[in-house]
Amino acid sequence: MSITASTIQTLESSVPNKEERQFIQRAYRKLLRSIKMPLSKEDSNTIRRAFELAVDAHKEQRRKSGEPYITHPIEVARICAEEIGLGPTAVACALLHDVVEDTEVSLKEIEEQFGSVVARIVDGLTKLDGTYTSNSPQAENLKKVLSTLVDDVRVVLIKMADRLHNMRTLGAMPHHKQIKIAAETSYIYAPLAHRLGLYNIKTELQDLCMKVTDPKPYQEISRKLKESQRQRTRYINEFIKPLTKKLDALKVPYRIFGRPKSIYSIWSKIKNKGVSFEEIYDLFAIRIVVDVEPEEEKDICWKVYSIVTAVHQPIPERLKDWISTPKSNGYESLHTTVIGPKGRYVEVQIRSERMDEIAEKGYAAHYRYKGVSTQRDVYQIWLDSMRDLLENPHTDPLEFLSDFKTTLFKEEVYVYTPKGDMRILPKGATALDFAFNIHSDVGYHCTAVKVNSKLVPLGYELRNGDQVEVFTSRKQKPGESWLKMVVTGKARSKIRSAMKEERRKKGETGKETLERKLRNLKLEFDKNVEVLVRFLKLPSWADLYYAIAMGEINPTDLIKNHFDIENGLLVPRKEEEEKGAELERIGKERKNRQNKVPKLKLFVGGEPADKYTYSFASCCNPVPGDEIFGFITTNSGIKIHRSNCPNATNLMSHYGYRIMSAEWAAAWNTNFVAKLRVTGIDDGPGVIARLSNEISKLGVNIRNFNISGDAGYFESMISILVQNTDQLNLIIQTLRKLKNITAVSRIEEEQDENT
Ligand code: MN
Repeated sequence: MSITASTIQTLESSVPNKEERQFIQRAYRKLLRSIKMPLSKEDSNTIRRAFELAVDAHKEQRRKSGEPYITHPIEVARICAEEIGLGPTAVACALLHDVVEDTEVSLKEIEEQFGSVVARIVDGLTKLDGTYTSNSPQAENLKKVLSTLVDDVRVVLIKMADRLHNMRTLGAMPHHKQIKIAAETSYIYAPLAHRLGLYNIKTELQDLCMKVTDPKPYQEISRKLKESQRQRTRYINEFIKPLTKKLDALKVPYRIFGRPKSIYSIWSKIKNKGVSFEEIYDLFAIRIVVDVEPEEEKDICWKVYSIVTAVHQPIPERLKDWISTPKSNGYESLHTTVIGPKGRYVEVQIRSERMDEIAEKGYAAHYRYKGVSTQRDVYQIWLDSMRDLLENPHTDPLEFLSDFKTTLFKEEVYVYTPKGDMRILPKGATALDFAFNIHSDVGYHCTAVKVNSKLVPLGYELRNGDQVEVFTSRKQKPGESWLKMVVTGKARSKIRSAMKEERRKKGETGKETLERKLRNLKLEFDKNVEVLVRFLKLPSWADLYYAIAMGEINPTDLIKNHFDIENGLLVPRKEEEEKGAELERIGKERKNRQNKVPKLKLFVGGEPADKYTYSFASCCNPVPGDEIFGFITTNSGIKIHRSNCPNATNLMSHYGYRIMSAEWAAAWNTNFVAKLRVTGIDDGPGVIARLSNEISKLGVNIRNFNISGDAGYFESMISILVQNTDQLNLIIQTLRKLKNITAVSRIEEEQDENT
């Protein structure tokens, strides 16, 4: 594509200065040369018209550096074509990207002249530049970028080119602006570049940010890199030399070279590992790129691997096969670390030219080669999970951020469904995350998970290659403790909204109670609820309903003790003001209690039981102080049994792999059911009263009392509520001492409801 007469004419009328005109023309020519794909007449025409419109529209503007403004969109367009590998539409949009925001040209004009696709992209780019209104600008901005991303990835890729050029020319900006732009870049754009597989751009953005935020270490590392350059080249040659002959024998075109690591990554290593620059040996990686047909790629790469490892001894644990299983940003490569000359560890990357291009340019290259390789559409999977998250309304911007960070920036684990379908989850994801990943309904009702056909706790952290099977039950529903067992944004937001719904539902009975109460007092509902909520200083009406439903607030007592009724309205009693303060204190305490992490009460498998869904087995009714163990059931989480439960032997001998150790951690304030069998001689009608008297004297409540008798002999079953074995044993001892009592024992039933 060459420069046409009409373009030259536009330039002449818009840029009077001849030198500047030539400068712009050179830049434009460079852009046109950078477009490698063949262009249709229509495409060339679109690019030309976009350029002409932009030149004219920006003619009065200059960049901070003093250059004509148009040099910026030209360079952004070139980055799109050359460094990201985007096509002609994106090039035209990049040329137009600042037109609507900074000049008189309207979006409508763009649409009329370039059609709806270009207009939509330019609109997206304009919106991304807008200002934010909320008090959490970073979250809002990130959300905006990501919503755009799921609509049309091109918008974000062009924005990335825009940001890269601005970062490259940041020197002309005042320092405080540099800092702000660098912060946003490292927060949003560098991770996004990584996620979209734009490796080169990510690396450059990180280095450019570091140059602004940490100039001293930046300069120092870059100086040291230069100084050690020759020494490094010598080492690389020494490493490569014994390989070349054997590689030549493959009779396949290849490139082999040492690739330096980025300044930022060296700095991270210095910081994270606490080493000095001089102590870092792997300042570079060796890369071998073979130029072969797609169907030969895998084969040749492994041949290269065996050549390399025949010469240099490999460290087997460091072998990473991203060819068989590409990363979710599309990255394909074979990595190994070998022991090179002087005993130094050297990373070797083996890949084809196609893989190399995808590795460096990411997203766009991935799509260009689509159909060539058998690669799954990894981006589609990722974008779908993004869309999922965005569709879940987030009220708290911080929650939103943390959800996104896990989805956006974490490395992955690869796991399989029982049918062998692969699922990609972020590293650290749990069995429960997997259930939510399959479907939110599967997540909601997940009761147990088998990994590689063994049952695991829901909080089990997935490992590469795990085969995962989820069991569900309609009766199951998410609990607060589940939030601690998941890391993915999707699972977390689904559980959170289920909890909110649950709270709302529970609150309904509270609302009914309150309605009845107010109706009886002939008080209008809304106004008086508001009075109560304000009096109690609760955050919302729903909180009042919930507190009533949970028995924390008794509306009858509340109104009787603290309010007068005047003209159909509740009025807090004057002399009660102090009590109001007291109530406020209680309210605060209640809130604190809710926010506080519940005290550890039980350990299962050496971990806090809160990590799991658990309950106490009804066959043996364990009480704090009893020897216990956990049993993973198929339908109802972990059941805690007493070690001397009659079912224990059976469970342990048949399902040993489902047994988990368990122990009590701290005192519970809750009551536990304990069942006692008491037998004795029936000495008259007073026996029930006698037994229950003794029990209540010890401050223990009876839940259930059954008695049967025959021929002067009785047998009773008593369910009591106790806090621990001390209390329970005291009762047993006391009852045993009673006259005419022959035996007192705890009841255990044999049953198999637990498997
Ligand atoms: Mn721009």
